Amino acid sequence: MNSDNLPQLTTEIDFEFDQQHIWHPYTSMTLPVSVTGVTSAKGCELTLSNGDTVIDGTSSWWACVHGYHHPDIIEAMQTQLSTLSHVMFGGLTHAPAINVCKRLVDVTSANLTKVFLADSGSISVEVAIKMAIQYWQGKQHVQVGGQQVRTQNKQRILTVKGGYHGDTFATMSICDPDNGMHTMFGDTLIKQLFAPTPTSAFGDTVSAQDTQALEAILQNHHQDIAAFIIEPIMQGAGGMHFYSAEYLKAVRALCDKYQVLLILDEIATGFGRTGKLFAYEHAGIEADILCLGKALTGGYISLAATMCTDEVALGISQSPAGVFMHGPTFMANPLACAAAEASIALLQKGNWQQQVNAIAQQMQQELEPARQFARVKDVRVLGAVGVIEMECAINISALQQAFIELGVWIRPFGHVIYITPPYIITSKQLTALTQAMKTIIKNMTIEQAAGNTHSNG
Ligand SMILES: *Cc1c(COP(=O)(O)O)cnc(C)c1O
Repeated sequence: MNSDNLPQLTTEIDFEFDQQHIWHPYTSMTLPVSVTGVTSAKGCELTLSNGDTVIDGTSSWWACVHGYHHPDIIEAMQTQLSTLSHVMFGGLTHAPAINVCKRLVDVTSANLTKVFLADSGSISVEVAIKMAIQYWQGKQHVQVGGQQVRTQNKQRILTVKGGYHGDTFATMSICDPDNGMHTMFGDTLIKQLFAPTPTSAFGDTVSAQDTQALEAILQNHHQDIAAFIIEPIMQGAGGMHFYSAEYLKAVRALCDKYQVLLILDEIATGFGRTGKLFAYEHAGIEADILCLGKALTGGYISLAATMCTDEVALGISQSPAGVFMHGPTFMANPLACAAAEASIALLQKGNWQQQVNAIAQQMQQELEPARQFARVKDVRVLGAVGVIEMECAINISALQQAFIELGVWIRPFGHVIYITPPYIITSKQLTALTQAMKTIIKNMTIEQAAGNTHSNG
């Protein structure tokens, strides 16, 4: 494109209009929090509307794993934009969808052969739940412990406490029942089943207590349970908790024993974040249904996917509906598919694993000293995720400005101050992030610590 034809970049930020008319994630329109203007981003740096740059410690919520403005993804999107930015997917198909689905089938476990493309992570979880329910409608009976069980009532979802799966109604019903949105939406939420959060830590063996608690629920309710859903290895927005791979192995075995489908929500963990391409690889298990989102497009545009096995697809076809009942307007948006294909291609040919391992090692070293600071409860690292958990809730807006003044973009929530940097981050940039975390925590005032636990965003 000739640079003369480039549209004028908008850098003026009308903060007044923003404050009066535009909702931000989890905010009030009458008690607005301050927001920071951003005008551009490149690599691991955001340029703010006042001209300052900050190093991004968030990858824009786990998504932007290759950094901002990566030439391969930009080029794939520009080429796609100039030929076909969108077309309906009902009755039509196109190469960008086929290409990205080929890659997804290729990089995930061999049993996952069918792909449903959705618009966002929450929707991909909704789709997974609908798949599970329709699957059991297509079955008549199953054998559990030598007994025949009718599958018609298998419609409830079992999960663990402390999870996060999205903000839509079905997904809210499986988020943590105490810190999620259950109290706010009360009776309108479906009543699901909750096992305790696994207590066995990542790297440890699984405690009998953890598996027994889960088995007790399955034993009593398997006739009603369509699926068990969990974020593999790491519970993200529910508190950044890493648990034992052996627990996940036990989950797989129990789901088989009690004829319950296993849905793995890899929306946060997928595409390398935990040091494996998918977190389930830590446990060497396979899902029946897999949810992907966030880093799927490298963080350039919204796209999510729900994958399932031949067996699940067959069950759905045998259900009374005969078809899978979901079909979003912007399903398989070509522009998003082109970005996703370019992003997965980068992972397939790149050295993300060395990058993530190096980030993990450096974070481990540089964050560990924070353990001795006042109010610090725990310091933990897994892959390119570094977490400092505090004993108290944190006042996000008070800390946000302090982080920006230190030249970094880090967004704490609840009790945790965490970083999930782009994989391309340099060692020097990473040190700036960990240094800022330590400086902030060391100097944290009572006012900054006294936070509001319900501010997730
Ligand atoms: C972010 C997230 C979701 C929801 O994805 P959205 O794109 O925000 O709808 C679901 N599950 C997990 C594990 C997530 O981290």
